Amino acid sequence: MEEWQQGEVIENIKWTSNLSSLKIKADINPHKAGQFTKIGLRVNDELITRAYSYASAPNEKLLEIIYINIPNGVLSPKLHQMKKGDKIQVMKQAIGYFTLNEVPNGKNLWMLATGTALGVFLAILKTPHPWKRFKKIILIHSVRYSEELIYQDLIAEIKKLYPDQFIYLSSVTRTKVKGSFNFRIPEGLLSKKFQKSTQIEINEDSQFMICGNPEMIKETTEVLKSFGLNKNRRSKPGNITVERYWV
Ligand code: NAP
Repeated sequence: MEEWQQGEVIENIKWTSNLSSLKIKADINPHKAGQFTKIGLRVNDELITRAYSYASAPNEKLLEIIYINIPNGVLSPKLHQMKKGDKIQVMKQAIGYFTLNEVPNGKNLWMLATGTALGVFLAILKTPHPWKRFKKIILIHSVRYSEELIYQDLIAEIKKLYPDQFIYLSSVTRTKVKGSFNFRIPEGLLSKKFQKSTQIEINEDSQFMICGNPEMIKETTEVLKSFGLNKNRRSKPGNITVERYWV
């Protein structure tokens, strides 16, 4: 039985015409960075809900999710219209296993994201835990267009806090942009361009967390398997931890 908590919209940040972040004030149960929630709105007496990962760290005062406005979608166009003070339903208990405590130890942690999946990694990076466990943390964000390279201020802040430990790479796949790569994540790994750029090898000491486009997850997993890495399962620990973000 899902338990719901009424929350209040504090800010609806519009990054592009269809990419936004919602900041919500709501009293939810303690949760772990990397978990997701469900957001709901009442439409004609029916509670319409969708799952979203938290981009906020568990200790932050406001909850934060990143969403894409799908014009013919049921919930997202309504989220898109929300303003400060509007009421919204939030699942009281966040869920999911895409959390750092499910990731085995290793030397380096690679975080691979497409689109809005960046958020789940920001939530984890805002906690002290990954920095205590891994020598290097490489965040790779792949988007279609450069304006979707969001949260640059936060990423710069993280880089300032962990200058030797943190590496951020971006790839803009549909236009050429200075400072970003111009290919998809599986290609960057297979061609070893990411490894060359970071000067970090991929081997059994590497841990991968992957979240985003389901096809990207599938293809990236295949590339990593060709490097001799295996999926991480509770029954059989491995190097590739994935989040089935949307189907
Ligand atoms: P996207 O199509 O997922 O593209 C984001 C990045 O992933 C781009 O760099 C794209 O490269 C790359 N990519 C796409 N397919 C790939 C593959 N097979 N292997 C490797 N990389 C791949 O775009 P988005 O803007 O994040 O999301 C687009 C649509 O996804 C939305 O309109 C929505 O329908 C859906 N979506 C749904 C949810 C949900 O929770 N239901 C959440 C987010 C997005 P290219 O430019 O080369 O394609």
